Amino acid sequence: MEEQQEIEALRKELEQANYEYYVLDCPVMSDYDFDHKLRRLEELEAAHPEMADPSSPTQRVGGKVADGFAEVVHRVPLESLQDVFAPEETTEFVQRVEEALSGGAEYDVEPKVDGLSVALEYRDGVFVRGATRGDGQVGEDVTENLRTVRSIPMALPEKLSSLIVRGEIYMPKKVFEELNTDLELRGKALFANPRNAAAGSLRQHDPKIAAARRLDIQVFNIQYAEGKEFTTHTETLEYLQSQHFKVIPHMVCHTIQEISQEIGCIGERREDYPFDIDGAVVKLNSLSGRTVLGSTAKFPRWAVAYKYPPEQKPSKVVDIVVQVGRTGVLTPKAVIEPVRLAGTTVTNATLHNQDFITEKDIRIGDTVMVQKAGEIIPEIVSVLKDERPDGTVPYHLPDHCPVCGAPVVRDEDGAHIRCTGAECPAQLLRHLVHFASRDAMDIEGLGPAVVEALVKADLVHGPGDLYHLGTGEVSKLDRMGKKSAENLIMALERSKENDLSRLLFAFGIRQVGQKAAKVLAVRFQTMDALMEATEETLTEVPDIGGITAKSIVEWFQSPQSLHLVETLREAGVNMVSREAPAGDKLAGKTFVLTGTLEHFTRDEASTKIEAQGGKVSGSVSKKTSYVVAGESAGSKLKKANELGIPVLSEAELIQLLDEA
Ligand code: AMP
Repeated sequence: MEEQQEIEALRKELEQANYEYYVLDCPVMSDYDFDHKLRRLEELEAAHPEMADPSSPTQRVGGKVADGFAEVVHRVPLESLQDVFAPEETTEFVQRVEEALSGGAEYDVEPKVDGLSVALEYRDGVFVRGATRGDGQVGEDVTENLRTVRSIPMALPEKLSSLIVRGEIYMPKKVFEELNTDLELRGKALFANPRNAAAGSLRQHDPKIAAARRLDIQVFNIQYAEGKEFTTHTETLEYLQSQHFKVIPHMVCHTIQEISQEIGCIGERREDYPFDIDGAVVKLNSLSGRTVLGSTAKFPRWAVAYKYPPEQKPSKVVDIVVQVGRTGVLTPKAVIEPVRLAGTTVTNATLHNQDFITEKDIRIGDTVMVQKAGEIIPEIVSVLKDERPDGTVPYHLPDHCPVCGAPVVRDEDGAHIRCTGAECPAQLLRHLVHFASRDAMDIEGLGPAVVEALVKADLVHGPGDLYHLGTGEVSKLDRMGKKSAENLIMALERSKENDLSRLLFAFGIRQVGQKAAKVLAVRFQTMDALMEATEETLTEVPDIGGITAKSIVEWFQSPQSLHLVETLREAGVNMVSREAPAGDKLAGKTFVLTGTLEHFTRDEASTKIEAQGGKVSGSVSKKTSYVVAGESAGSKLKKANELGIPVLSEAELIQLLDEA
């Protein structure tokens, strides 16, 4: 076969395999064959650049999006839907339609996928552009990221000159859970729900990231089809199915009873769908009927979205238990008497945090109303105070971690209460991942998966244990092998030589980021000196404020931290700074710079002052030692004069630095 023909044949074959795997959920080709053929296609395409085609299966993860997403004006607007909240409102909708069409209408009922609406454009059967809904009239071009969605066909069996399809992009619930677990392990912010996660993924500038998020789609409408006539919505869905799209589950209904029953069924099945739903959509099936009814300024008159009321039931709080998350946050949970809610038996409800408990005054023994509003975990809506038994007491979270016993602290700027334990088993995975990360101890080969395997195999209970690992035991771990084990042990050995600043950052002391760790290492030079520092001496260090100083002192007071430092020391981990110590001639002095300096920029001046142990602040207060006034100094100079703070000229500053 000619190579050009082979390219065509492979593209067809791989596109078909994608369809069988991602849309039909019925793989025919083995993963091995798929990878093999894809590789062959890549080679052939490289040899034949004249045959480049963006819809080739090799281009699912293409080049980066330069900057910003281009605007796309929708050929047919992506309309919104009118919400209805009660069965009577659905009945009214049906009555309105029946009146307008003189009866006998058919309806299609579908789950309302809680994702992001997109329009997919095909020309001559080839996917050419995909856009978000935006405001319905103008959206954003997210073609490259949509190509990574394997269930979106890149080439269609029938080559209509123009076809625009509408669907909902979502992150499967399972993928969402995995993604959040991974983010949590890395200490990154979590996504609130699959919808936000999908939105964030679709707007990535790097399609590789979008691809890794494994988004999926349910299509539910033909926006435009050139040269094709349909009479009903169901016909369009059948056509889309024949064109290899993943089509929304749907049910044709004729009476209000049938519609209500189907809405009920979708509600009961909501747990079983791989996507979140936020309602059910009832649509008129006849397309000519839709034209008769038309649209208001905002919504079509031929469809409504039924929103399920969150089901609420009473139950009793049997106990309140506290879990410690991987970031050390103490999360209280109410253990309740089992109730059936939205298709599942519920035995506990989230209490969020102390503020939530206090505000609602939730106590052990209380009867409470519990609801499940689409979220995975049910929550307590209210307390039935009239039913409160005698002898209950207000609930307070413990002041020590229920897992490791270390003291807990409340976040300075939030409602979270956190465990401070340096070796708390609940936080072990995250601590280890952070400890080994590139900016911390930079231990190559020690990513989240390996860390998890080490903990599971009971080989590591804290960062100190890492340095006692042997090649033999490591090579027995899943997917490890002798070579990787040797490499890991070597990487661990190398990390012992790291500068003190890396180790300080690796400890994960709250408020101590990379920069603070560096400043501390330079100023104190050794771990021992730092351990002896008081809050007072710490606050004299540039960049270290009161909160950070307190956090450092508290960290070194904890027996767990001391144990960690000692095990690392015994293992031979370096605890000395390799950077020259800063001078301390200006220690304890705070400078404020104002106006334009002639000989250096403000940043340079700050660096020089800090190198001598001085501190530079942005505002003048009684604590300021000197204000350095350059050309056209303004309000800060005025304030210095008011407070009687010594003012230095630039020349005087240079003199002070030289003397120092
Ligand atoms: P809303 O944003 O609340 O006005 O609801 C309208 C949105 O529901 C549309 O933007 C669609 O993207 C989305 N949607 C999800 N599933 C469906 C469906 N089966 N039929 C129509 N719209 C749907």
